[in-house]
Amino acid sequence: MKICRFNRDRIGLIDERGLLDATELLDRRPAWPLPAGDWIVRQIPDLLPRLRLARDLPRLPLDSVRLDSPVANPGKIIGAPLNYRAHIEEANAQPAISHGKTFTSLDQLGLFLKAGSSLVGPSEEVRLRFPDRRTDHEVELAVVIGREARCISRQRALDHVLGYCIGLDMTVRGPEMPGYRKSVDTYAVLGPWIVTADEIDDPHALELSLDVNGERRQRSSTRYMIFDVARLIEYASSFYTLHPGDVIMTGTPEGVSQVFPGDLMHARIERIGEMRVRVA
Ligand code: MN
Repeated sequence: MKICRFNRDRIGLIDERGLLDATELLDRRPAWPLPAGDWIVRQIPDLLPRLRLARDLPRLPLDSVRLDSPVANPGKIIGAPLNYRAHIEEANAQPAISHGKTFTSLDQLGLFLKAGSSLVGPSEEVRLRFPDRRTDHEVELAVVIGREARCISRQRALDHVLGYCIGLDMTVRGPEMPGYRKSVDTYAVLGPWIVTADEIDDPHALELSLDVNGERRQRSSTRYMIFDVARLIEYASSFYTLHPGDVIMTGTPEGVSQVFPGDLMHARIERIGEMRVRVA
């Protein structure tokens, strides 16, 4: 099942004929204090059987709506900095990427957090904040947590996944800490929808790619991840509780490059879909 958010406050289900508006099946009136995580994503795991059977919902053409980030308010957007060997090698070979640091491995660096305020959906633009500095695209498989996870073993980790979407971990290159350089407003793009985990039997067998203005820049497979999804959840949840709606961006493969105002990024991940995002 594909679940999206559209026109700011609507929840949709995508099928081969378009979009079904499922908003009325969800409780949108939380009581303060809110439980941790995203209020809507928290409801979805228990609602999935009902959503699957829902037939009599208003239908809309998919191209008539604006797609937003499928998670509106993730408690955390977690990034895996060095999770593909070929990207570590390209970073160490290019001073414009590594800025005097030697990139080693994920288990030495740990994870980083992107600010929630950086999040946008595919119908918005990535707005370059510092025209005199290099900003790169990083296409990544993004994991959306569906059920709370605290100190979860890798054997149980995938039980906590609601589904997957495409993530763009936009990055200003430079000497500052990654969590700062990757947290500029609009520098986290999630979309176009969440594909529930039951439709992706192996998240480590997905081709992913990113084109800029029709030219291929990144192309790889999630099979080259160093920490797989289960290990990332084990690793992350050993430090902090993962809440429904938390997002893990699982790292980018090689081919990162600078983007400029006016560029059109076209990201694809097999079995999830594709999205086009403009740079401004
Ligand atoms: Mn990244």
